Amino acid sequence: MKPLGPIPAGFGVTNGELTIGGLAVRALVERAGDTPLFVYSGDLIRQRVATLRSAMPDRLKIHYAVKANPLQSIVQQMDEIVDGFDIASGGELELLRAAGVDLGRVSFAGPGKRDAELELAIAAGAVLNLESESEARRALAIADRVGLTPRLAVRVNPDFELRGSGMKMGGGAKPFGLDAERVPALVRSLIAAGADWHGLHIFAGSQALSAEAIIEAQANTLGLAARLADEIGVPPQHCNMGGGFGIPYFAGDLPLDIDEVGAALAQRFADLPDDLSQTEFCIELGRYLVGEAGVYLTRIVDRKESHGEIYLITDGGLHHQLAASGNFGTVVRRNYPVAIATHFLAAATEEVNVVGCLCTPLDRLADKAFLPRADVGDIVAVFCAGAYGASASPATFLGQGPAREILV
Ligand SMILES: *Cc1c(COP(=O)(O)O)cnc(C)c1O
Repeated sequence: MKPLGPIPAGFGVTNGELTIGGLAVRALVERAGDTPLFVYSGDLIRQRVATLRSAMPDRLKIHYAVKANPLQSIVQQMDEIVDGFDIASGGELELLRAAGVDLGRVSFAGPGKRDAELELAIAAGAVLNLESESEARRALAIADRVGLTPRLAVRVNPDFELRGSGMKMGGGAKPFGLDAERVPALVRSLIAAGADWHGLHIFAGSQALSAEAIIEAQANTLGLAARLADEIGVPPQHCNMGGGFGIPYFAGDLPLDIDEVGAALAQRFADLPDDLSQTEFCIELGRYLVGEAGVYLTRIVDRKESHGEIYLITDGGLHHQLAASGNFGTVVRRNYPVAIATHFLAAATEEVNVVGCLCTPLDRLADKAFLPRADVGDIVAVFCAGAYGASASPATFLGQGPAREILV
């Protein structure tokens, strides 16, 4: 038997069926039309943002990293409750425009921005987080050609990393940002060229569950920002401190203690050097805001046995849930939280493998999971599906196509 990850709080049960936002899964499937289906709870997202705000110092702005879940209805809800958006492509910029977001609240990071994307962002008044000197030159030339003052921040490749981070984005050679020691010269040249220097972007990693590790990374981030501001000689208007707040996916994972993080940050903010005393700070979070608010629902289409093992074969799979299948940046495959949504909270009686419908052995949703008896027609729920699910999985693989998505 392999343990399942912890089911996030905030879901209910009625007549033995899982409920999301108070609605039972069969009714949700009927409303959406069919499985496979992602259901996102607007209440859980709002609660998450509210809890986070109350834990963090007032001075800290909260940005949503759109790549975690770019669904238009989620973006529109976020627009009412967060202070800004972080994007990493021209496509995401167009998506925010279509959702009606004020593009002046957007910052655009990411290596390999094409000229057309730079122009789009400059014309929209978004902040560009520059990733290299050559990108800076291209942005300045484009701004000059279109006759606009570009809003330019510089992304710093920090000289430290976020410990325990699922994805390391700093420390050593990286395709992201400028090595810290090269930042002051670039910023001075941007200011000299007449750009609106917006500030610094320092992102050290993702998916950390240790408050201690985040506190350490934030302290290092503020220390680095202070050193750079001092060397540049001009205080930054803004400092994007990155994010990295993780969520529990696997057995044994414990939630991040955000009160501890907020208390430590409040102390640091009370003690900032002069160069940062007027600076506006933000964090950029994706999965922490939406990950636990989403559930992936997939129907069992076959039940079979092979060499003594039971297989529940579903109409979903890795083409919607690459991360849950264990094929998105994991070394050892572990089980996400998974349940039989149509017999939710029923006693587990058998060990089963829950697999997808793709013709590849990689397509697994749960291995050797101890679950209640389930048959053809029952619905499986994969939790922690709100971030990096629909938009980070190969939906066209094997001609399957995308899952349905609803926000309730
Ligand atoms: C992906 C990414 C994020 C969001 O990461 P989460 O783990 O979803 O919070 C934030 N900032 C940058 C620069 C990123 O690349």
